[in-house]
Amino acid sequence: MKTPFVTKDQIVSIAEKYPTPFHIYDEKGIRENARKMQAAFAWNPGFKEYFAVKATPNPTILRILHEEGCGTDCSSLAELMMSEKCGIVGKEIMFSSNDTPPEEFAYAAKLGATINLDDITHIPMLEEVCGIPERISCRFNPGGFFEISNAIMDNPGDAKYGMTRDQLLEAYSYLAAHGAKEFGMHAFLASNTVTNDYYPTLAGILFSLAVEIKEKTGVALSFINLSGGIGIPYKPDQVGNDITAIGEGVRKVYEEILVPAGMGNVSIYTESGRFMMAPYGHLVTKAIHEKHIYKEYIGVDACAANLMRPAMYGAYHHITVLGKEDAPCDHTYDVTGSLCENNDKFAIDRQLPKIDMGDYLVIHDTGAHGFAMGYNYNGRLHSAELLLREDGSVVEIRRPETVEDYFATLNGFWDVDL
Ligand SMILES: *Cc1c(COP(=O)(O)O)cnc(C)c1O
Repeated sequence: MKTPFVTKDQIVSIAEKYPTPFHIYDEKGIRENARKMQAAFAWNPGFKEYFAVKATPNPTILRILHEEGCGTDCSSLAELMMSEKCGIVGKEIMFSSNDTPPEEFAYAAKLGATINLDDITHIPMLEEVCGIPERISCRFNPGGFFEISNAIMDNPGDAKYGMTRDQLLEAYSYLAAHGAKEFGMHAFLASNTVTNDYYPTLAGILFSLAVEIKEKTGVALSFINLSGGIGIPYKPDQVGNDITAIGEGVRKVYEEILVPAGMGNVSIYTESGRFMMAPYGHLVTKAIHEKHIYKEYIGVDACAANLMRPAMYGAYHHITVLGKEDAPCDHTYDVTGSLCENNDKFAIDRQLPKIDMGDYLVIHDTGAHGFAMGYNYNGRLHSAELLLREDGSVVEIRRPETVEDYFATLNGFWDVDL
């Protein structure tokens, strides 16, 4: 069972002021979850969650998470600028980019962000544009397959990110010899993991490597960044992660590996995006067409331009028809958007209650990598983003895009009379 954080009555009244489609975020859920995350790692005095800005790039969201103790994980100029605008600067920014243009390193360095190097060739580039900073991190890619208890979780050997073990050792030695004084290591080996073992397993690999780095290069790391990858149960029958158990699992390997090696002062960092935000966002959309051909279709006023994950990855997003929460799911529908692309389907062969025109549908778990992945195919526009405050009021935290916005970058368009 997945229960929306808004009722039909609430949405009917919200939609009078803010027409569908829109993404709406639940401030209470966001704050409660962020506090659970902080509590799970409170055993580590240096713990910091750097929220992955790409998941939900909205200043209101960044400010809420900052109030809960989170920094930002940025990977582009625009993300750095947004963080800066929110007053989140200095050590509160982790710049975990890849294929990075030199001017973005310069901007990150200017903000005092911690630069997390994706590649060894970035070292000479850094030296040229801003010098080697005192505090620096390197991203590790172990290659091969990443397994947890013999189950393949992901394929780092096929991933573009990070440095090999040899490159990593070389990088730390070089950085230490050229002015760096505080070092970190980062790795992101599997995405959307729904198991309490991901962080502890990753931590075990990185902690052992940290001990090896200290032995071989003399560089003692001061932080280890477990990055993102903590998933959420998109399907109603999945059991979600227990962040308290995850924190304890990391503590166990910390005490087994780092403490005996005299490295009990290492700070643990995370860069969670999905786990921090996905469940606390809904895409709310209205049924505007029904079509009966070889299958039963419900056309809604949102499309893949507002939520790309189903079209891009075949991802499951649960759907609730508001006001029909307790009705039997005795109809089989494809729920579609309007793009001229047959993959523009939020659901395929989904069992749902009978949908009538004008019904509001909640598409669940769109709070991360939802609005953010939006695009403009077919001239479809980005929706508004709304925030449901803790007191039940609603504020618009991003207005809907207009056709004027869409045409704004075209040369020669505004000179022609329409
Ligand atoms: C995408 C990304 C994250 C966030 O990942 P989630 O799966 O949303 O937690 C964190 N760090 C980096 C470098 C990323 O690219």
